[in-house]
Amino acid sequence: MKPTVVIIGRPNVGKSTLFNRLVGKKLALVDDQPGVTRDRRMGDAEIAGLQFTIVDTAGWEDEDAHTLPGRMRQQTEASLEGADAALFVVDARAGLTPLDNEIARYLREHDVPIVLVANKAEGAAGESGVLEAYSLGFGEPVALSAEHGEGVADLFGGLWPIIGEKADAAQEAANAPAGEDEDEDAPLGPLKLAIVGRPNAGKSTLINRLLGEDRLLTGPEAGITRDSIAIDWQWTDPQSGETRDIRLIDTAGMRKKRNVTEKLEKLSVADARRAVDFAEVVVLLLDATQGLEHQDLKIASLALEEGRALMIAINKWDVAENASSLFNGIRAALDDGLAQVRGLPLFAVSAKTGKGLDTMLAAAFELRESWSKRVPTAALNRWFDDALAANPPPAPGGRRIKLRYITQAGTRPPRFVVFGTRLDDLPKSYERYLVNGIRSKLGFDAVPVRVVLKSPK
Ligand code: GDP
Ligand code: GDP
Repeated sequence: MKPTVVIIGRPNVGKSTLFNRLVGKKLALVDDQPGVTRDRRMGDAEIAGLQFTIVDTAGWEDEDAHTLPGRMRQQTEASLEGADAALFVVDARAGLTPLDNEIARYLREHDVPIVLVANKAEGAAGESGVLEAYSLGFGEPVALSAEHGEGVADLFGGLWPIIGEKADAAQEAANAPAGEDEDEDAPLGPLKLAIVGRPNAGKSTLINRLLGEDRLLTGPEAGITRDSIAIDWQWTDPQSGETRDIRLIDTAGMRKKRNVTEKLEKLSVADARRAVDFAEVVVLLLDATQGLEHQDLKIASLALEEGRALMIAINKWDVAENASSLFNGIRAALDDGLAQVRGLPLFAVSAKTGKGLDTMLAAAFELRESWSKRVPTAALNRWFDDALAANPPPAPGGRRIKLRYITQAGTRPPRFVVFGTRLDDLPKSYERYLVNGIRSKLGFDAVPVRVVLKSPK
């Protein structure tokens, strides 16, 4: 069974908005008016491969109450029962209210582990509210904006130590054929590939080219594509002669339903979001005649935040000018703009002539391999010991931070847990040192790697 996470908080802090964001659909009703009656809702949520059932408790509350009203107390009680974790949401813009404190007191009486969430934290208006939230006594709040989708991936760090094991077990049980242990060498199935990018980058042309038929309408005008979701096809690798299955997602068509001239920039991010949800490997397509823009970095970050394997293809190479300086410029801008990952696979392609496409697809399969790879615990800890010996963790106040061992808690994306003591004092720079080591020494180059620190209880 998947772990259950319940969203708790006073009215109007954004519980339903967060719920919607986590299930990725507009299931719950969001209303500006507090106290609108809503049912308790459940949905399937996923953050960076961590899967759980999310429960929205919005709707029982009485806005005027400054103490826990009986009905709310009852409902909260019921929803906490059997929950593996609770997201306690406060409003970083409004600041804390007596009811927040009342709920905090109430939650402390329960055993359910709490992850504190300071919602509406976009922009400067939320800053003081985030600080104030510390006073609730649930540790560092996860600052996010449910409405804008910012920081939601950071919930992973809070939830993983609590529900990670159960989530992994549930996933393994679901994946394993009955009566067998999970077989990590099992073939991975069709490669789920998404091609994302700004309008006019050449996504439809590329998909047509790959499929070898005119399935999607292309034209000079942005957004002319027929609706299409997943396309299964087979690609023969000219190097090995092997035939491999690919499931391609095309989201460009989703734009068609709306007014094409309106908010194109925004919609291409929304399209990318859907594609990223679906994909194992995401190809971000750039236009050689346009170069790398802020919007591209935004789409790239989105894919990485979601833990997907990302590669970049510069399209329209057939008409590129100053090819080598263009390529190097984009390489440098990517390394600068995406601090999470260095050396992302970068390709020059032409959807028009087909140049570079086989190389790109072969690399996509390779990238999925490292994204799905598991390092045996012994090998992992041999590396870990060496890494600590080469650069011991600091000793703030003369007392050394102890890092004991590391395990790989999951794959797709690769996730690691480092166990130790006094971990709160470990500088971010040391965490980065470990992440970089995992990447470069253990063969996880260019895939997003997550590391969580955990003190044994
Ligand atoms: P609930 O009563 O706790 O379920 O709150 P809702 O999800 O219904 O949200 C209450 C109001 O806050 C709505 O008007 C939302 O649009 C707004 N809201 C939710 N999340 C955010 C956010 O991250 N930032 C801002 N500025 N407003 C938000
Ligand atoms: P989408 O909006 O990302 O789906 O982009 P389209 O596939 O509709 O392509 C936009 C325009 O770029 C069309 O006029 C295509 O013919 C052109 N295009 C796409 N790929 C290439 C390429 O590799 N080389 C050149 N020269 N033009 C291309």
